[in-house]
Amino acid sequence: MNSKLSLHNISKSYRQNDIVTEVFNDVSIDFLQGFSYAIMGASGSGKSTAIHLLAGIDIPSSGTVLLSNESIYYFSNERSVLFFQKNISLVLQHAGLFAELTVLENVMLKAILAGKISANSYKHAQQLLQDVGLGDKATAYPNVLSGGQQQRIAILRAIFIVPEFLLVDEPTGNLDEESSKQVIDLLLHYHKKYNMGLIMSTHNRSIAERMNHVLRVENKKIVNI
Ligand code: ADP
Ligand code: MG
Repeated sequence: MNSKLSLHNISKSYRQNDIVTEVFNDVSIDFLQGFSYAIMGASGSGKSTAIHLLAGIDIPSSGTVLLSNESIYYFSNERSVLFFQKNISLVLQHAGLFAELTVLENVMLKAILAGKISANSYKHAQQLLQDVGLGDKATAYPNVLSGGQQQRIAILRAIFIVPEFLLVDEPTGNLDEESSKQVIDLLLHYHKKYNMGLIMSTHNRSIAERMNHVLRVENKKIVNI
């Protein structure tokens, strides 16, 4: 059964001192596993906020995020852990690799944290590195990698335990054109191979148009375009 991830009647305001910024006003939208979505919109419109809400790392002022019609806010502790382990995975603009861990360990991080490392994990991680042309970097530390290489490792880390939904916030924001293409190719490759839902914010129209659906944040709503 394919999963569905939804923003349901979401309103979101940020309050800082006395200043209130209203980002979303009663937004409802469904994202289906197996499909790819771009979220476009002006700078400051709420693209990152949408990704963070879907990932459960920010909370709305009202409304809920639903996983297959079940509120993620009513998950038990155990179910929440599973949500972050299996249902969703997140790639941010900055790769955020752990400097003290090798490239291979970074790729396996979710499995390490879940206590699910086997001999097979090493083989699988090594194979993934090979697939993205970084097979010789397994024992290196992230600081020797270029920005594009680090972002590819962040993607491998996000899909090492295959999630139902891969949430990606401006993954190419800091990259040159060639590295951007490699990163988007890789995201689309795994999206198809593993039937993951891919939800990506981007301000780049040609990248957005490679997705099944293009959405836009405007006037505190998320609309189909
Ligand atoms: P985008 O990713 O589209 O550039 P964001 O989702 O980051 O936009 O931000 C949407 C709006 O919310 C912006 O006006 C931003 O300044 C504001 N905002 C985002 N995060 C916070 C926060 N933690 N505190 C206060 N305001 C915030
Ligand atoms: Mg942003």
